[in-house]
Amino acid sequence: MTTTPLSPAAGLRGLCNGRVHLPGDAGYDAARTPWNLAVDQRPAAVAVPHSAEEVVEVVRAAAAAGLRVAPQSSGHGAGPLDGRALDDVVLVRLHELTGVTVDPDARVARVLGGTLWQEVVAAGAPHGLTALHGSSPDVAVAGYVLGGGLSFYGRSHGLAANHVRAVELVTADGSLVRASAEENQELFWALRGGSGNFGVAVAIEIDLLPYAEVYAGMLLWDRERAPEVVRAWAAWTRDLPETVTTSMRVMSFPPLPDLPPFLSGRQLAVIDGAVLEDDDRAAELLAPLRALGPEMDTFGRIPAIGLTAVHMDPPAPAPAVSDHAVLAELPEEAIAAYLGEIGPGSSTSLLFGELRHLGGAFGRPADGGGAASHVEGEYALFAVAIAPTPEAAAHGQADATALCAALAPWATGTRVLNFIDTTVDVSTAYGDRWDRLRAVRAAVDPAGLFVAHHPVE
Ligand SMILES: Cc1cc2nc3c(=O)[nH]c(=O)nc-3n(C[C@H](O)[C@H](O)[C@H](O)COP(=O)(O)OP(=O)(O)OC[C@H]3O[C@@H](n4cnc5c(N)ncnc54)[C@H](O)[C@@H]3O)c2cc1C
Repeated sequence: MTTTPLSPAAGLRGLCNGRVHLPGDAGYDAARTPWNLAVDQRPAAVAVPHSAEEVVEVVRAAAAAGLRVAPQSSGHGAGPLDGRALDDVVLVRLHELTGVTVDPDARVARVLGGTLWQEVVAAGAPHGLTALHGSSPDVAVAGYVLGGGLSFYGRSHGLAANHVRAVELVTADGSLVRASAEENQELFWALRGGSGNFGVAVAIEIDLLPYAEVYAGMLLWDRERAPEVVRAWAAWTRDLPETVTTSMRVMSFPPLPDLPPFLSGRQLAVIDGAVLEDDDRAAELLAPLRALGPEMDTFGRIPAIGLTAVHMDPPAPAPAVSDHAVLAELPEEAIAAYLGEIGPGSSTSLLFGELRHLGGAFGRPADGGGAASHVEGEYALFAVAIAPTPEAAAHGQADATALCAALAPWATGTRVLNFIDTTVDVSTAYGDRWDRLRAVRAAVDPAGLFVAHHPVE
């Protein structure tokens, strides 16, 4: 008679009140599936804790069993884990450890480990407060702020990581520690940009912003107008106050019944974002773009909670591949290269080629900031393709890479960690902060227990 040896992860089965799933278990496939459905992650086990205490138990048990631990909240940033050997890794999915407590007087929210941005902005809204969320309501606070965080409030207020006040973290020895400007300062510095390399964040305290309403929206043209629109946006961004943060995309939507008619099957040029000014001044600033006669113009004063909808990010998990670069400038030659890849007449497979306007407070090192406190460069390029099949993924990845390659002459060589979704040299996101980051990792996780999407090694 032969017996199958028990997996080292089998010892974790009783933890999290039974919410630990091993390969072959009925719940394994659902539990291991990230937001990015193109990513196939096959860990030794998936644990779904409901409390900080359960996270502590899982981390201790995994370490004792010789396994490693990968924290994950929504799985929006799972791309670099695709195809990585995870057979000695316990994936700790935090999507059921959620909740927000707002202190309106201090303008601070305490957010549990896997909470999504939509829950935070909804909790702040009754107090006339909002947060430095990104374009999408269902990205999680943890991965976003620990990776930097580019918000439509960002040219005024800087990276979201600079607005983290404290992180409650389960570290490699299974301790629950607090890192802030007063406690565990070096760990606090590393966490704000170093992401999941130092432990599992079970709660994060963030600053809230005093905006009940915001002037925001989008302008939309047919892609045939892209040459004028891209040139006008590029010229406009060269001389704008820091109160304006926008994105410009050339987009191609497949014909899908779920999409509204103005998107379905259409190729478009879209500009969207926020203007932190009164209505008259906002209208004055937007006038050069409105002069191009957009087919749709939704810019106006909206409740701040509505800002998570203006970018029209997918409302549900989707399969995606992407590439990314930071550009120092956008001269005429760069615009021509961009349009050559994705403009009228091109047969790109990309859903969009996005340029986010940086500069302003994004570009300044923050007082007391962490490993990601600013970004050197004027535009973040983010090329994304929908990848429902391996063939579509390969084609989309090639087109995303080609767009970034076409703009390489204007790239800074630096990167924004949150927009890196492939396996690249992540030290490029940190510049001269890389060695300090590695030193913190060696000090707090000497055995390399934690597996982040972007490893600091
Ligand atoms: C549709 C879409 C829109 C986006 N918009 C923006 C945007 O506007 N601005 C922007 O800056 N970025 C944006 N991003 C990028 C996004 O911020 C990153 O993908 C980020 O990593 C997502 O964090 P997450 O926790 O939701 O994802 P996850 O994949 O769950 O996490 C990514 C990594 O973060 C770490 N991590 C997550 N949770 C924890 C935790 N509790 N403790 C410790 N480590 C943790 C881990 O290292 C993990 O591998 C967008 C991405 C998508 C797909």
